[in-house]
Amino acid sequence: MKIICIGRNYSNHAKEMNAPVPEEPIFFLKPDTALFKDRDFYYPEFTQNLHFEVELVVKISKVGKHISVKNAGNYYNEIGLGIDFTARDIQKQCKEKGLPWEKAKAFDHSAVLGNSFLKKEDLPDNIKFTLTKNEEIVQSGESVDMLFTIDQLIAYVSQFVTLKTGDLIYTGTPQGVGPVQQGDTLVGAIGEKELFSVRIK
Ligand code: ZN
Repeated sequence: MKIICIGRNYSNHAKEMNAPVPEEPIFFLKPDTALFKDRDFYYPEFTQNLHFEVELVVKISKVGKHISVKNAGNYYNEIGLGIDFTARDIQKQCKEKGLPWEKAKAFDHSAVLGNSFLKKEDLPDNIKFTLTKNEEIVQSGESVDMLFTIDQLIAYVSQFVTLKTGDLIYTGTPQGVGPVQQGDTLVGAIGEKELFSVRIK
């Protein structure tokens, strides 16, 4: 199982990062050891600036390569929610040196995933989701604001990387990313449905 993450898929997030809006999707990978579904998350010792990025997560339901946009809908049935935890200080160093982002993005437990997925047919066309930090909404997103749709992302990524059953695609974060501290609680929801609650220890 692999985790594919999309970068800068919402223009308002690209703006807050002072980064250009991409002309084609940007993706990177996290290993399966990044996956985290528990409650207590331990703040990593190698960063001073751990950021949350809440993202809709697509679960791939069958093997595919060179998938067309038109057929992409046949390759997923369920959508969940997760956090692409990012060591922003380390990411900044990597970017400045032109180095890969893995140290900042692919570390253990950096891919928080909710415990349940919602069926595609039960979701509206415009999927609304939120991240709450200590009971205050810090990020709220709508899938209509994605620069590249889920189907376009599947088609794009599968030109380069074969998608396999159970692979996860983190589809990018809307604006409002920010730091967490020990003692914070992060709660993610699609619509009214709470999908994860993580305590930072
Ligand atoms: Zn992200």
